[in-house]
Amino acid sequence: MRNGQTPSDRLEGFISKIEDFHRLMNFLEAIHKQTYSTDSASDRGTLHYYRNLTNARGAKGKVKNAYRDYKMLYNAVLDAICSLIFLKESGMNDLEGDFLFPDDFPNFSSRDKIMWFNDLIRPMIQKYFFDSKTDIFDNTREIVSDQTHPENYWISNLQDGRFKCHHCDKTYAQAGSLQVHEKKIHQVDIPKPRKKKYVPEDELYDYILSVFKLVILHKNLDTAVDMADGPRSVRSASYELPLYNKTNKTKYLIGSIHLAALTKEGTLPCELRETLIANRFVNLQGGRSNNLALDEYVELLNRDSKIV
Ligand SMILES: [Zn+2]
Repeated sequence: MRNGQTPSDRLEGFISKIEDFHRLMNFLEAIHKQTYSTDSASDRGTLHYYRNLTNARGAKGKVKNAYRDYKMLYNAVLDAICSLIFLKESGMNDLEGDFLFPDDFPNFSSRDKIMWFNDLIRPMIQKYFFDSKTDIFDNTREIVSDQTHPENYWISNLQDGRFKCHHCDKTYAQAGSLQVHEKKIHQVDIPKPRKKKYVPEDELYDYILSVFKLVILHKNLDTAVDMADGPRSVRSASYELPLYNKTNKTKYLIGSIHLAALTKEGTLPCELRETLIANRFVNLQGGRSNNLALDEYVELLNRDSKIV
């Protein structure tokens, strides 16, 4: 808009951002891409199997046309996985079993009850979310955290935005050009490391665990919106990012990087940063945890005006 006559025509000072309802929708769409197949109706333990078992008929077709139905299905499965983990870790066989609370539990303050519960849950989250070995981001993490990783060779000589040759003074704007140059002139050939082959011990277990991890991240963003928790909402972008990468959702991949960068200290003036983090929700009905993402509110207005 550089040809505009006025600052506002030129959109000066305009800060674009991806809105939370669209993030929720696209994150679930990415999770669906990663974990859902209508071919698996007879495979016990898969999402489509549970969709049929629980008669969740609304969950069909594209996620964006049935977001709520898919969300309910995924959340129901997440609840079941959480219950199962809790039973297993508590040494119980079923939900009818006796769970041993501390003797004076009824006398605990609300705060102490929550602390007691958090202490109980923390090792389970550690074990199943953080420590479990199946992780769709393993490869990425290996590259990012190891500077000597072969994938990093081509960007390791980055100077003033240009990639410098390891053997002469030539520099290139793109890592790909450097690669061609070093290969042609200096006979440098670094084979891409072979991806670690995934050797499953128990594919169903790995699948359930990845559903657990992904859906709990979705729920993290979902409840952050309900509670108008801006900082938690923007932090979530960093967790969504690798899945957008994995599922080729480029627009939201870029959006996540953009949001994460703008909300880091030092990118925007402090006041604008705070505004960007906090100003994402509206509460139409009052009460706690009844907040809507701003773009969902716009969708409602849109729908109403179409009806009118
Ligand atoms: Zn060279």
